[in-house]
Amino acid sequence: MRLVIVETPYAGDIEANVTYARLAMRDSIERGEAPFASHLLYTQPGILRDEKPAERALGIAAGFAWGRNADATIVYVDRGISPGMKQGIKDAEAAGRPVEYRCVKADLLPLPEIAPCPKCGSNKDQYIFVVRSPTPHVPFRGVGCANEGCDYAGPRGQSLREAIEAHNAGVKPV
Ligand SMILES: [Zn+2]
Repeated sequence: MRLVIVETPYAGDIEANVTYARLAMRDSIERGEAPFASHLLYTQPGILRDEKPAERALGIAAGFAWGRNADATIVYVDRGISPGMKQGIKDAEAAGRPVEYRCVKADLLPLPEIAPCPKCGSNKDQYIFVVRSPTPHVPFRGVGCANEGCDYAGPRGQSLREAIEAHNAGVKPV
């Protein structure tokens, strides 16, 4: 397995940033990597306090030490690149470690609520259907309705998010 350091924001909106960091870890694992994120581990209660500069510096140094054994640094960019992430990128570059930029796969991000069926008004019978396009490996997704007698099938998108957003955008109040 490829050992990777995961860079995501921490300071600021810590709760949302930690949620995102967990998604990034999941995303990395799903791609067959063995990720490490010092800011998720070392900021746990009883380890280090990020708001104390000396302790924050210790955590960064310990994270960089782990980085010496990593094959790459992965920068997850959906929430921007924070000053802390920039430090991590600099460290990777100084150590000659490849730096890759990516987003969390759309299907892992919290999804919008699915609006009711525009045909029958049902708000509990929607399901996700997957259509394989003629091009291999490019499945399309859409929102459909399973309410009895309703054959609604919404517009398609490549990701679940795109499918739900397309469906919601097209839904007119019943
Ligand atoms: Zn329906």
